[in-house]
Order: sequence, then C-alpha cells, then structure tokens
Amino acid sequence: MKATLVGSRELAPEVRNFVFEVSAVDELQFKPGQFVSFEETLGGKKITRAYSIASRPNGNRFELCLNLVQDGAFSPHLFTMQPGDSLEMLPPLGFFTVRNPAKDALFIATGTGIAPFRSMVPDYLNHPEAKQLTLLFGARYENGRYYADEFEALANRSSNFRFWPTLSRPEPSWKGRSGHVQIHLLEAIGDRRDLDVYICGLKAMVDDVRGILKALGFDRKQIIFEKYD
Ligand SMILES: Cc1cc2nc3c(=O)[nH]c(=O)nc-3n(C[C@H](O)[C@H](O)[C@H](O)COP(=O)(O)OP(=O)(O)OC[C@H]3O[C@@H](n4cnc5c(N)ncnc54)[C@H](O)[C@@H]3O)c2cc1C
Repeated sequence: MKATLVGSRELAPEVRNFVFEVSAVDELQFKPGQFVSFEETLGGKKITRAYSIASRPNGNRFELCLNLVQDGAFSPHLFTMQPGDSLEMLPPLGFFTVRNPAKDALFIATGTGIAPFRSMVPDYLNHPEAKQLTLLFGARYENGRYYADEFEALANRSSNFRFWPTLSRPEPSWKGRSGHVQIHLLEAIGDRRDLDVYICGLKAMVDDVRGILKALGFDRKQIIFEKYD
C-alpha cells in the first residue's frame, strides 16, 4: 500500500511528528504499539525501515515521531518529503502491544521511543479495567520531552496515570527529575514485582533496564520491549 504525507511539524530540532494517509483503505487496522514499514529504493538499493505508530487508530490516517539520523540511509529521505509525496508501506505489524490492561504497568521510553506509548497509554487508560500506569520518559534536554503537554494533560485528568519526564542534561532552570530513566526505575516500581513493564528505545537503554528488572526478580513475560537498533 502507499502512504501519502499529509503534513509534519517540528517537535524539537531534527525530530518531527508526521501525519500520513493511506488512501487505499477507509480504516488502517492496527493495535496500539504496532509499527509500519516503509520500503524505498534509494541510491539503487532497496531499503526497509520500521516506524512505531504514534497515534491511536483514526480512519486511514496515522502519525509517526521521527528522528533524523545524520548520515542514516533512510531517515534523511523522510525529512525531505513534502505534503502530497508518498512512499511504499507494509501494513502494521508487531507484538509490542498491551498484554493485559487490567494489570498495573510501567512504560519506559527514551527519545523517539515515546512513539508507541502515545498510542498505547491513552488506549490503556480507556479500558474499563485500567489500573495504575506510570510513564517514565528520558530525554537529554527539556525540548526533547516530545508530546509532554499531551501526557501532562492526560495525567491531570486521569488519577491513575503518572507522567515522569527525566532529563539527562537539564538546564539549571529545570525543576523536574534529572538523570537517566534507570535512576528512577526503583522509585517507579516501589515494592511491586507484579507490574508489566513496557520498554521502548535504543538497545543500550532497553538492555540495561531489562537487566535491572531481571535482577529484581521480574519474570521475562512481564518485560515487553521494542528495540529501535
Ligand atoms: C520496530 C521498530 C520501530 C521503530 N520506530 C521508530 C520510530 O518510531 N521513530 C524513529 O525515529 N525510529 C524508529 N525506528 C528506527 C528506524 O527503523 C531506523 O532505524 C531509523 O530511522 C534510522 O534509519 P536510517 O536508515 O536513517 O539509519 P541507518 O543507516 O540504518 O543507521 C542506523 C543508526 O541509527 C541509529 N538509530 C536508529 N533509530 C534511531 C532513532 N530513532 N534515534 C536515533 N538514532 C537512531 C542506530 O543506533 C544506528 O546507529 C524503529 C525501529 C524498529 C525496529
């Protein structure tokens, strides 16, 4: 199927929210947390890259949160796209989806790893059995807290949702949490060992957090993760 760019907006330098439309279908079917794959021939080579859907199911439109990887093979191409441009897309796939919305859960993201959680967290909270959720989101700087306004608004109106952004390189004016997500993990978990933990981002963070959780006694089945590299 073809995905056509409807528009995009800057979230931070070299990070944008993109809106795409799939005109061949009325409804793009997917579960929050799944990804689409784009396929293009660039410089004579066929390249495929996966991107987590950053919006809830909404007709034939979907959103992505994309980081420009300088010298990357594919992401620079996405950043040159103009509204009306299209590219080949494989339908949504993936197992990084909510396992049991009746369980308390912790979501951990860094950078564009927040993308699937912008779809999963509101969906989870909408479930009639939804319990206590915490989203721990690591960024370097304050402007790296993509979608913070939305998550803060969600936390203000949902007594069962906590939004904990943390900055690894905060400016002196920052009054919130600082340091990597790993530092705040124990506080987020407390003495609970029955939570499901969803982790998304680059391999180094995901593996580190998984190691900590395993050492604390979490079962593999409680640790659900998506690695971007
Ligand atoms: C299931 C899945 C979902 C993904 N979802 C997203 C998403 O929602 N948004 C997104 O921007 N990327 C996402 N990615 C990463 C994406 O597929 C590409 O790897 C990324 O766009 C870089 O591709 P490239 O060809 O430009 O770089 P390449 O030439 O492939 O270079 C790869 C380099 O880019 C680094 N890298 C990969 N992803 C990122 C990133 N997001 N931020 C910083 N560095 C990165 C890798 O560590 C590696 O050093 C996802 C990957 C997977 C497997």
